[in-house]
Amino acid sequence: SCGYTLLRDPHFNKGLAFTDKERDSHYLRGLLPPSVLSQETQVKKMIQLIRQYEVPLHKFVAMMDLQGRNERLFYRLLLDHVEELLPVVYTPTVGEACQKYGNIFMHPQGLYISLKDKGRILQVLRNWPERNIQVIVVTDGERILGLGDLGCQGMGIPVGKLSLYTALGGVRPSSCLPITIDVGTNNENLLNEELYIGLKHKRATGQEYAELLHEFMNAVKQNYGEKILVQFEDFANHNAFDLLEKYRSTHLVFNDDIQGTAAVVLAGLIAALKVVGGDLPDHRFLFLGAGEAGTGIAELIALETSKRTNLPVEEMRKNIWLVDSKGLIVDSRKESLQHFKRPWAHEHEPVEELVDAINQIKPTVLIGTSGRGRTFTKEVIEAMASLNEKPVILSLSNPTSQSECTAEEAYTWSQGRAIFASGSPFDPVEYDGKVFMPGQSNNAYIFPGFGLGLIMSGTIRVHDDMLLAAAEALASQVTEEDYDKGLIYPPFANIRKISAHIAAKVAAKAYELGLATNIPQPKDLMKFAESSMYTPAYRDYR
Ligand code: NAP
Ligand code: MN
Repeated sequence: SCGYTLLRDPHFNKGLAFTDKERDSHYLRGLLPPSVLSQETQVKKMIQLIRQYEVPLHKFVAMMDLQGRNERLFYRLLLDHVEELLPVVYTPTVGEACQKYGNIFMHPQGLYISLKDKGRILQVLRNWPERNIQVIVVTDGERILGLGDLGCQGMGIPVGKLSLYTALGGVRPSSCLPITIDVGTNNENLLNEELYIGLKHKRATGQEYAELLHEFMNAVKQNYGEKILVQFEDFANHNAFDLLEKYRSTHLVFNDDIQGTAAVVLAGLIAALKVVGGDLPDHRFLFLGAGEAGTGIAELIALETSKRTNLPVEEMRKNIWLVDSKGLIVDSRKESLQHFKRPWAHEHEPVEELVDAINQIKPTVLIGTSGRGRTFTKEVIEAMASLNEKPVILSLSNPTSQSECTAEEAYTWSQGRAIFASGSPFDPVEYDGKVFMPGQSNNAYIFPGFGLGLIMSGTIRVHDDMLLAAAEALASQVTEEDYDKGLIYPPFANIRKISAHIAAKVAAKAYELGLATNIPQPKDLMKFAESSMYTPAYRDYR
């Protein structure tokens, strides 16, 4: 009844879009200037404003400010200008925002759970104003993008990911809950910073860590039920693999860095093979980086190849090689390797340098998942280009500063022959009179549609076959027109449709596997996905 309150509630506020009648009936007269604008006009105004800022971080702050004032306008704007604004609310700018989160901290977003809350996490969850949560994105801030341990300031990541769940996947914003678990930080700069917002001590590990996470996982299920989706995001790999293993059989969990990334890269590879020729078993893959992303992708490639050939996964792994910070992963290193690297320790003599590994393994596909920028040097790209007519080169590390090479480097050093995509976006490159469009190989293509598929079917567990279904669905959305431009991913401008396709295929797989609980199964899953999506049009308040 109080107009003032209405204007300050981002879920209901429409700003100047309140009609004269609404202003009369909701005590808004005088609280707004007299003009009445449509949402369309508001979008036009906002995008002009955002374009005036030259510093990306200022654009980011303007977007967050809008999200906190007028949620529907925020999503309308993001959806209408998705290719322009994705780099603002997501990688690369979100990385800088996390690094500076302490400074730009205006109003808190998301839910913070820290070691101080041990024993009462359920109560903390109940302080969140929304009850019907369907998806949680949770981080502990230890490996934020390729930027390392940002502690409590990692909150920007779950907030950003969930904005994409809504914008790209159509999950209602009120059903999304971003969570940061603060167990301390090992980042010395933050520990020494007076204004740091998180716990100022070293990270809890071992039993103390496991107990807090266990309490959290139990509280989540107790509070929201069996069908709550928990997406693990940007955990360090020493925890990420264990958490996934521990909870995949009791909760609806999914690790975006391991599994979402795997699906998006597999999709890109399936598409790339249409350009390069050959089927998956004909190709050889080399990774720089053998962590969550690298081994996650490697395993999904092996799984898909095994399905296509009817040969055992173990056999298919032999075409896939990984290099970590100590060089090529080979059998003589097996004893000292972390468990997730062991399946990749093939028979070979030790090799230290990436270039030497390329020349000896002769990969057709090179994938960067190292979190280290500029590691695909001229020598590296030239080696790939001398071995392959059309070398496939993916620089997946985020943000842009950590990308293994730039788009320009990939095209120039390969004389325009590389099939290239990167985790963070690059502008088109002109080389030898031709314009090359680099694709964005980012899990943002997958997780929104994947999550929607799980939610709309009431799925209770994630199965690897759903990841394969998602990858195939995404690859099927690449058109001849995209291929002609050298793209192995469809444009983000069509993302709602792409997400609906992914959701439909994931849900279909869930029904097939008997893991879906929303029965009967809708006849047309694609239509059902589209009709389940949130649209940011304003509501009528008369
Ligand atoms: P991670 O688990 O920490 O793995 C990093 C791997 O890189 C480790 O195996 C590490 O070696 C290796 N490494 C580090 N420096 C290296 C160097 N100079 N040479 C060779 N190997 C090196 O991290 P992650 O989760 O896989 O993420 C890695 C990167 O991928 C991040 O930048 C992240 O932003 C990006 N990523 C992108 C997407 C996407 O959608 N595009 C998705 C997920 C992640 P050791 O094991 O020896 O330490
Ligand atoms: Mn991530």
